[in-house]
Amino acid sequence: MDCPKCSGEMELVYYSRIEVDRCKDCGGLWFQPEELRRLRDDVWMADYVIDTGDKSVGKKANAIKDYHCPICGDSMLHENDKHQKHITYESCPNGHGTYLDSGELTDLVKKTFWDKFKRQR
Ligand SMILES: [Zn+2]
Ligand SMILES: [Zn+2]
Repeated sequence: MDCPKCSGEMELVYYSRIEVDRCKDCGGLWFQPEELRRLRDDVWMADYVIDTGDKSVGKKANAIKDYHCPICGDSMLHENDKHQKHITYESCPNGHGTYLDSGELTDLVKKTFWDKFKRQR
């Protein structure tokens, strides 16, 4: 699979029982919908292992909003994260997956972690 943003080569990254595609060039991450949910909920430190791309490259890639699902070729839909409105990412309208730029997973997971921590106290 090629990166839908920069057409770089995607490599499979394994963490826990989750498989994620990561672009070798821009560090962008492609998740199946259920993988992203699992990562956010219960995979400890996943961001350190998976989200290793260059954050400044990720910022630039984030400006690319108009691109297509690498699986079906449909235009991706823009979404704002329900919990963190400043994070936007794109998902396939047919449910093939979600693309996060480098740095965005770290952002998502961090917030989720602190939320959990606060709730437990
Ligand atoms: Zn890329
Ligand atoms: Zn698709």
